[in-house]
Amino acid sequence: FETVLQDPHPQKLKGFPVTIQNEVRFYNLTVTPLPDASGNVGGAVGVFTDVTDAKKTEQMRVDFVANVSHEIRSPLTSIKGFTQMLKAGQARIPEDFHPFLEKILHNTERMIALFNDLLNLSVIESRDRIHPEPTQIAEILDLAEAAVKSTDPTKKFSVVRELSASRLLVDPKLFEHVLINLLENARKYSGTSPEVTVSTRESNGRFEIRVSDKGPGIAKEHLGRIFERFYRVDTSRERGTGGTGLGLAIVKHIVVKHRGTIRAESDGQSGTTFVIELPLP
Ligand code: ADP
Repeated sequence: FETVLQDPHPQKLKGFPVTIQNEVRFYNLTVTPLPDASGNVGGAVGVFTDVTDAKKTEQMRVDFVANVSHEIRSPLTSIKGFTQMLKAGQARIPEDFHPFLEKILHNTERMIALFNDLLNLSVIESRDRIHPEPTQIAEILDLAEAAVKSTDPTKKFSVVRELSASRLLVDPKLFEHVLINLLENARKYSGTSPEVTVSTRESNGRFEIRVSDKGPGIAKEHLGRIFERFYRVDTSRERGTGGTGLGLAIVKHIVVKHRGTIRAESDGQSGTTFVIELPLP
């Protein structure tokens, strides 16, 4: 209310908790200034909407996905382990069965990746608060680059850095995840010798991170949708890349939790640039 009286613009607050008789309830609040006949703002009106039920249902959905993902990972890891044992002793298995072993292993790994991503997404969704701390972009980039290179050390991959701004306020673990996903995509979709440029700068009071590759690009009609869960541009192009369609949904969630924005820019033919903008420390 104080804010609206000082600066007469409507203000919105979403899902804030209020304890009423030992019970926590959640409200959305919209406060609108009330000008008098001469246009001076002497008061404000606030509308509280009780969103407790919606919030609880959402929490149940998030918990359910997290529990299912967690429970399914154990049997999958066990199937993977036993298949690897069969593969190690495949000399004793008829040769025409060998491709089936490969397929079981490949698909088990895909399912493990999928449930890992689902679990990551629901963990991020369920976090009410993040813990940003002053962080050097170069440090998280070092970790992310090393993590991506370690998943396939034989593949050529170079990261060019143009870091004009260095200090940002983020949860370092979550932001490492963001950079890993973006670098991994750049490598995955850029053919045989992928090169990605990561640049940073401060612009219009925001910390900007750009991750650009020289891959095949993304056509205009898909640019706005690639951040949706399970959205993949061309499933035939992507077959065999081992993707889950959840990577960018996770990236977007983390950026939004930091009160930032993310968009993709591409002419649909040569290269894609992901642009993240965050509030400055
Ligand atoms: P996936 O696990 O399939 O990579 P993502 O959510 O990370 O899922 O990405 C969604 C889709 O966006 C991908 O399937 C791919 O079509 C497209 N995409 C993401 N990054 C790039 C990129 N750097 N170059 C071209 N296409 C990309």
